[in-house]
Amino acid sequence: MSRPILGVIADDFTGATDIASMLARGGMRVVQTIGPEAVPLVARDTDAVVIALKTRSIAACDAVAQSLAALDALRRAGIPQVQFKYCSTFDSTPEGNIAPVSEALAEALGCPLIPHVPALPVNGRTVYKGHLFVGDALLHESGMQAHPLNPMTDANLVRWLGRQTSRPVGLADHQLLSRGPDALREALERMRQDGILHVIGDAIDEDALSIWARVLSEYPFFAGGSGLATPLARRLGETGRFTPDRNPPGFASETAGHTLILAGSCSTATLAQIQAFRDKGGQIRQIEPTALNENPKAVQDLIGWAADALKSGPALIHGSTGHEEVAAAQRALGISRAGQIVEAALSKIARALVRLPQTGRLVVAGGETSGAVVSALDVAALRIGAEIDPGVPWTLALEAAGRQIIPLALKSGNFGGPDFFLRTAWGMAR
Ligand code: ADP
Repeated sequence: MSRPILGVIADDFTGATDIASMLARGGMRVVQTIGPEAVPLVARDTDAVVIALKTRSIAACDAVAQSLAALDALRRAGIPQVQFKYCSTFDSTPEGNIAPVSEALAEALGCPLIPHVPALPVNGRTVYKGHLFVGDALLHESGMQAHPLNPMTDANLVRWLGRQTSRPVGLADHQLLSRGPDALREALERMRQDGILHVIGDAIDEDALSIWARVLSEYPFFAGGSGLATPLARRLGETGRFTPDRNPPGFASETAGHTLILAGSCSTATLAQIQAFRDKGGQIRQIEPTALNENPKAVQDLIGWAADALKSGPALIHGSTGHEEVAAAQRALGISRAGQIVEAALSKIARALVRLPQTGRLVVAGGETSGAVVSALDVAALRIGAEIDPGVPWTLALEAAGRQIIPLALKSGNFGGPDFFLRTAWGMAR
């Protein structure tokens, strides 16, 4: 039996899945838990545990308390190295939560320096001279300045983090990184001796992240985005800290039955994926929130239809539709009620069908929709398997007692190629 060597505390659900699949890509066997309670159940035969919290936009004191509880669970499981994971666009407000949470975790672990590596170059998020770019734009000109919960109005992360803390914030810049891991190691040590607590790390490409991975693989605690995860996992494998698993489990190909797809996302990508499924002759039904509002019993009919359809092939039920139909439903019912009706219906359908023998695997499209379904199914943890498309792995959903629920893929709106549903329905992995 091997023990996990890395624990991650993630400040939101899809961010947790993101880093979990990046670690798996680096050869680690990874489990994502919904909160800290399930950690003891899944800490066997696992290299990394990612705890998904929902602390990004709550009061700093609550975020600190929940993050410390998560740290406690990781330490009880004997996990020696911890990352605090936040978004690669550094989503936070002047009050927090990045500085307060990382400081509390560092203090609990007795760490005198907190390196921060937010960059995710594959998605265009790079950091140069402490400034965060999204593609070609500085963060505060990228659209993030208008974020409803955490408007990012300053791309200078040294200054931004400085507003969240009274402790000194330093910078490990591109020039320093170009001198290699030894120079970086020494510079971090000097900053620590000078009383600097937080260090923002530049990284404009994968080479820079590899240098960070070499140095941070020796640190018990650090913070940042998911970009560091694959190089870090590779480094931990190279140095013999775990045995890399080159073939993550397929999960989905291991069960009988057909694929049930539930879609609540109205993103362009999801609508194209639904169309591709329809064009292929897939069995499909649509949920209309106004009709469902008048006749809630229609959910039962859909459950009956899907239970039958799944005996002969994959089935897809979607609320997802084009902008005009969504707007009409929202005018009739209100924005949040329209969304809730669809989420509640899809959750009820998932609960009714998930344990039937003809339901082999479940695919859910939409971030909010995924959250609703995962909570309706009482999922406590997800074992991360093979990637279907970048950032979307097959997972094995487990309940609190550790029993398997079903192979599950959770896709946030814009993820996945046009054939995503086809491959989850008829061909199990790429
Ligand atoms: P994404 O990841 O694309 O943002 P989400 O699931 O997070 O997808 O959000 C989509 C929201 O739209 C959900 O709350 C869902 O219930 C809602 N929705 C889906 N279909 C409809 C519809 N026909 N009318 C109104 N709202 C809908």
